[in-house]
Amino acid sequence: MHESLNNLISIKKEINNKNSNTQIIAVSKTFPASQIAPLIDYGHIHYGENKVQESLEKWTELKKRNDQIKLHMIGKLQTNKVKFAVDIFDYIHSVDNLKLAKKISDETKKRDKIIKVFIQVNIGNEFQKSGVQIDNLNSFFEECKQFENLDIRGLMCLPPINENSDVYFQKMNTLSKQLNLPELSMGMSQDYLSAASNNASFVRIGTKIFGKRN
Ligand SMILES: *Cc1c(COP(=O)(O)O)cnc(C)c1O
Repeated sequence: MHESLNNLISIKKEINNKNSNTQIIAVSKTFPASQIAPLIDYGHIHYGENKVQESLEKWTELKKRNDQIKLHMIGKLQTNKVKFAVDIFDYIHSVDNLKLAKKISDETKKRDKIIKVFIQVNIGNEFQKSGVQIDNLNSFFEECKQFENLDIRGLMCLPPINENSDVYFQKMNTLSKQLNLPELSMGMSQDYLSAASNNASFVRIGTKIFGKRN
């Protein structure tokens, strides 16, 4: 069996022991279609990318051949790329400003489609990080709700690196419940089990499935 598929299957088992509602987004950024194919053939549905151009090149054909696939934009998204992003992505996890939210809404309306989005939260309150500040989250959420064709699924975070993520994931779970949101996007190769224990709906795993990126 292909190594990436082996990795995916064992991670899935581990996660299911913690939380059977947690789904895996296989983060395939930098890896070619040939390395993703075994997972698609196996029937895995959710994939994550962080660049619009790379995603269009890689996924246009793959999605044509398999209409079950759901593609998740997990990286920073510039407003001038939104018109391309809404054609290829089913979910956008990095909504953290109103200009971006409005642009996504405008472009999806033009195409008469609805896109699922996550609001990125700067959960560690780090000055260099993207994401809405916790203090502004309620008002940001209320304003986002005004935009048509945005299906706000939940919150997303990237906790501070080199710290124990557990406390941040607990905070995210609390915020998500306060806002009554159905889904939660958190956890990567280093901390997906903690995320699953804290109610993550989606963990985003790259390295542990596909290996190290260049
Ligand atoms: C690359 C990336 C991941 C996956 O990271 P790994 O450590 O390789 O699992 C998850 N989330 C985001 C936002 C990423 O950019």
